[in-house]
Amino acid sequence: MILVTGGCGFIGSAFILDWLGLGLGPVVNLDLLTYAGHPGNLRSLESNPHYVFVRGDIGDGALVAGLLRTHRPRAIVHFAAESHVDRSIAGPQAFIQTNVVGTTRLLEAAHEYWRQLPPGEAAAFRFVNVSTDEVFGSLAPGEPAFTEQHQYQPNSPYSASKAAADHFARAWHHTFKLPVITTNCSNNYGPRQFPEKLIPLMIHNARAGKPLPVYGDGQQVRDWLHVSDHCSALRAVLDRGQPGETYNIGGRSEKANLEVVHTLCRVLDEAQPGTRHADLIQHVKDRPGHDRRYAIDDTKIATQLGWKPAMGFEQGMRETVQWYLANDEWVESVTSGAYRHWVAQQYGTA
Ligand code: NAD
Repeated sequence: MILVTGGCGFIGSAFILDWLGLGLGPVVNLDLLTYAGHPGNLRSLESNPHYVFVRGDIGDGALVAGLLRTHRPRAIVHFAAESHVDRSIAGPQAFIQTNVVGTTRLLEAAHEYWRQLPPGEAAAFRFVNVSTDEVFGSLAPGEPAFTEQHQYQPNSPYSASKAAADHFARAWHHTFKLPVITTNCSNNYGPRQFPEKLIPLMIHNARAGKPLPVYGDGQQVRDWLHVSDHCSALRAVLDRGQPGETYNIGGRSEKANLEVVHTLCRVLDEAQPGTRHADLIQHVKDRPGHDRRYAIDDTKIATQLGWKPAMGFEQGMRETVQWYLANDEWVESVTSGAYRHWVAQQYGTA
């Protein structure tokens, strides 16, 4: 049994589907179902005896302690977070509450559980803190990519909250010996990503014939990783990662945002011949404090854990576009009131 937090979100749901698909053992998923958590992502697991869903807050210490006592997981994979930079600029408090306070409460509960495990189980236990490359701040063009030794220089309220969580995770290892591993991953893309993030937003707007808003000159560079590769990297970390270590995870695929949008438009043009989606591109006022470039040096995870990404960017983009084209209903449900209404009916509150 493993405990996954935030398993109804974009990456957490992919992780759980892959995990159960590979027959790696039962999963309990603790998710608050914020606007970003969509239980429909895991509808295929509704009658799976190896899957348990619990709606709740990672910051609820009593709830987490009870879950740990009942299910006795051998690992916690912690995805739950407020994850959207623009939202962190508009309203940082939720980010501090979930990403910082919530994570520390989860660490406390994990520590209390772990220290009472028999020695063999305690030695095998892992707490994987899933984090981002954004904690390292911004790189200039040509500057070497982030290694695990790179100084933390978070620039947005989102990255500051994730950086704080990473520091607490480190402290829980250093001070209490909890077997914590932190991973810092680059931008993910793939199916079931909430359509506020760059790639699904562009696909959604392009299909509706709406403008494709590109921040500033669109030359902000990100490294892109298909979500299935992030999941395989996390499995490698759970399997072979060393407690107290951090691992950078990247896609070896640095692209300027504008290039990503042009690639998407090309793939969409092929899927819908006769349209020129690039005509919809519109440059809009840049995000305040927008980091210019992130890049990942994945030498450590490649050499020490034998992991590398399997999905090429072009192929990953094609598959992603195809998924969104085939799943209109999903996009409609997460963006419409129908989904919130369903959550309210199902769980009493939206
Ligand atoms: P997401 O926003 O799609 O999903 C977050 C999930 O967490 C949702 O299901 C939400 O309901 C849940 N959640 C939020 N607050 C909660 C709380 N207090 N208690 C329990 N559940 C709560 O996020 P994502 O893109 O899947 O990212 C998952 C993790 O990976 C995050 O920690 C994020 O920082 C990290 N990460 C994301 C990326 C990326 O490109 N998306 C890259 C690197 C790291």
